[in-house]
Amino acid sequence: MAGISTRRAPVRTLAELAALGLVPAADLAALAPVAARYAIRLTPAVAAKIAHSYDPLGRQFLPSPAELATSPEENPDPIGDAVHSPVKGIVHRYHDRVLLKPLHICPVYCRFCFRREVVGPGGESLTAPEINAALAYIAGQPQLREVILTGGDPLMLAPAKLGALLRRLAEIAHIERLRLHSRVPVVDPERVTPALLASLRQAKPVRMAIHCNHASELDSAAYTALAAIGDAGVGLLSQTVLLKGVNDSAETLSELWRALAVAGVAPYYLHHPDLAPGTGTFRLTIAQGSAIYLALGEVHAPAELPRYVLDIPGGFGKVPLAPPHLEGPDGQGRYRLRDRHGNWHLYPPPPVAPQQTGC
Ligand code: SF4
Repeated sequence: MAGISTRRAPVRTLAELAALGLVPAADLAALAPVAARYAIRLTPAVAAKIAHSYDPLGRQFLPSPAELATSPEENPDPIGDAVHSPVKGIVHRYHDRVLLKPLHICPVYCRFCFRREVVGPGGESLTAPEINAALAYIAGQPQLREVILTGGDPLMLAPAKLGALLRRLAEIAHIERLRLHSRVPVVDPERVTPALLASLRQAKPVRMAIHCNHASELDSAAYTALAAIGDAGVGLLSQTVLLKGVNDSAETLSELWRALAVAGVAPYYLHHPDLAPGTGTFRLTIAQGSAIYLALGEVHAPAELPRYVLDIPGGFGKVPLAPPHLEGPDGQGRYRLRDRHGNWHLYPPPPVAPQQTGC
């Protein structure tokens, strides 16, 4: 939008969005309760690329009154982080890997976020004693091989803090590799500074899963940031959320993964959207998603495609959306999902009882 390219501060309020012409002034009253509930933040680089609220970036980052409409199967903790959290900041869902969430701040707040009830400027960061307790937990679990830093976005930590945390993790003898999940290189590439790159150089392998949903997110600054991270010895992987009105066609996803491949980012996950509150306008059915994925298989070699996966609601883990993990639909459009232990779960799940929010 005109006048925004020199802006450096993030866009955080409805008034700023209206001043930039990104939301109509007439919609401000309807959007006020949305902004009160879910954080707004766009980097200047992202805001400058948005033409209107229905383009692929506007859909992802501009608030909508539809976010206040919830359905019974939606859940404030859609992938069941809380039931697998033995220590604050840790989610231990799988045998040999563990999530560490040092903070709940992101460079942008996605309107479909699966952790939307906990991320935002009021979201808690771990204190030094809490970090110590989380690292002690990891050190006490010798079966763990990998620690995945997520949040929030771990690249929002100050580089010195991030480097120190990665170093302490790498010093744990049984931890063989580290992974970070981030949107920063694409939506806020200016944060990829020499200091940040130095923090990523560790004695053990580091990989980074880049969250990117549409080729229009990738510009020359993002390519430069990704190349620099790759040059620092970090393996780059892709994470994409399949989103109605953003990337729900085989052509759009093909274009995205070709653009990511040029940037040296290997295909990893295509996520079916989670049942986060107020995100119904982004969700496709499994039948729609599977049809898109099938069409992608006709033009891409298997190694060029990420795995199409769904986190089974309730914390039962991620599974590929294909047999033998998937059965259905039945006459009512319901599926059965087989978790890694062989147990079956209905999808969509039965309505959840009201519960407390947060991890
Ligand atoms: S970057 Fe990830 S954690 Fe942050 S708001 Fe977007 S989806 Fe949620």
